[in-house]
Parts: sequence; C-alpha cells; structure tokens
Amino acid sequence: MNSADKWQGSSASVEYKPGVGPFLGLLAVSSIGIIALGFLLWFIPTVGLSNIHPALPFVTGGLLVAGALLILTGALFITLAALKGGSAEIGGIGAKLLRSRLLRWALFKLFLPLMIMVGGIVRTPKIKIEQAFLAINNQMVRLIGRKIKPDRILILMPHCIQFDDCKIKVTRNVENCAGCGKCEVGNLLDLAHEYGLNLFISTGGTVARRKVIEDRPQVVIAVACERDLTSGIQDAFPLPVFAIVNKRPHGYCMQTGVDLNDVKEAIVGLLGVKAA
Ligand code: SF4
Repeated sequence: MNSADKWQGSSASVEYKPGVGPFLGLLAVSSIGIIALGFLLWFIPTVGLSNIHPALPFVTGGLLVAGALLILTGALFITLAALKGGSAEIGGIGAKLLRSRLLRWALFKLFLPLMIMVGGIVRTPKIKIEQAFLAINNQMVRLIGRKIKPDRILILMPHCIQFDDCKIKVTRNVENCAGCGKCEVGNLLDLAHEYGLNLFISTGGTVARRKVIEDRPQVVIAVACERDLTSGIQDAFPLPVFAIVNKRPHGYCMQTGVDLNDVKEAIVGLLGVKAA
C-alpha cells in the first residue's frame, strides 16, 4: 500500500458526535436488559424456583395472579367506559374508577401500545386501532361529567384547516379571520364567540403544547388526523382531550375540514348546556 492509499482524513472526522450519546446509552442498557432477561429465562426453568428459595414459586405465582387481575380489571372498566360513556346510570366506586386518571393512564400507556403491537401481528391497520382508541378516549372524557367553564375549554385546530390561498395570518391571531366562508375557520370562530371559548390555530405540535401550557385549560377539543390526535392525547395526559377526526378531501395536511356539528356537540357536552 503506497501513501496515496492510506487514510488521509483528519482526526476531526472520527470525533465523538454530540447527540448520539443518549441513543448509545439506551442501546447499551437495552442490550444488557435483553441479555439479563434471556439469562433468567434459561436459569429459572433450569435451576427451578424452589431451589432458589422455597417461597419463590408462591411469590411469583401471587405476582402473576395480581398482574393478571389488574389487567383484566383495567380491560373490563375500559370496555364499560366505551359502552357507557356519557351515561348517567353509573354510580358508586365503579363510577369513580371509570372517571379516574388511572384508567386513562392504563388505556394510553399500557393497552394502546399493546393493541398496536398485537394489531401489527394480526395485520389490523393501525388507523383502525387509532379510531377505536379515539372513540374510547372520548367516552372517557364525557364520563368525567364535570361542567367545564367556557374559558377553560381550548379548541385546537391544525393550520391545514385554513384555505390554502388565504393570506390572512390566523395562526398569530384567529380574530384576524374575515369570515369569507372559503374555509371553516370563520364558522369555528363564530362558535367560539357564541360559547365564549378560546380557539387557536396551531402550526404544529410544539406550538400547540406551548399554548396548552400558557392557557392551562381544563379540557382541550382537538381536531386533527388519527395519528396526531393519538400522539397528542398521550402527550397531554393527564389533561383530557376530546378528539375530533378531521375531513381530508384533498389528502393529509391539505385544506382539511371539520364537521361543525361534531365540534358543537363536543362543546355543549362539556359545558353541560343545551345546543342553541
Ligand atoms: S374563512 Fe377566514 S381563514 Fe378561511 S379563507 Fe376566509 S378569511 Fe381566510
């Protein structure tokens, strides 16, 4: 090999790149975790639980039964919430559990990832699982059952709802909308005025999150596609988010729309008033 074939790059090209550290850390921890799990899966059946400690088979059995009972109870109450949402017939401890943050946490953080994983195995389209999740989430928000003051409800709309060629900056201030009728921003603004709610047109997730932190609403009514609503609801937890799937006649993120009746229904339901 002559000198021309040798590595000519400077040492700067092999420098540590900031930003990959956390990923490599996670990779190391995950690898060690998987190896440790594999070792336990080999070690326990080989040696036997009772040989490690005489009480261990009972402790392990007890933990498995407790875990199974918790999962079954969670699944049962989520089913009840899905079937009975908005119904006034529920009372007692069951009602408290149905309205609890814990149940929503179990749905968002435990059952939804599990459903998506199982759905992937049995080839159920993810969008179908998200639609079912959003419907159950809305039932749970309805079950909260508190009357919310109008100024504590925030309606969040994506920027793509605005007419493409409209030159008015409604993302800075929605009140700038001239209500020309070319998109639904004007009608939404009328609804917000009629019920005294806050309406915000967001350019993205970060801006929407900042608005929620600033306004500290009690409930958000959010309009977006299934994927954004699902991730937004998980991010916003424990804040309840009533989800309305947008209309997409031109495809995702292009001049989308919303069924105004759905928005009105959500508003009157949360305010506990009759539709005007
Ligand atoms: S309704 Fe408002 S936002 Fe929509 S096109 Fe007309 S002025 Fe623009």
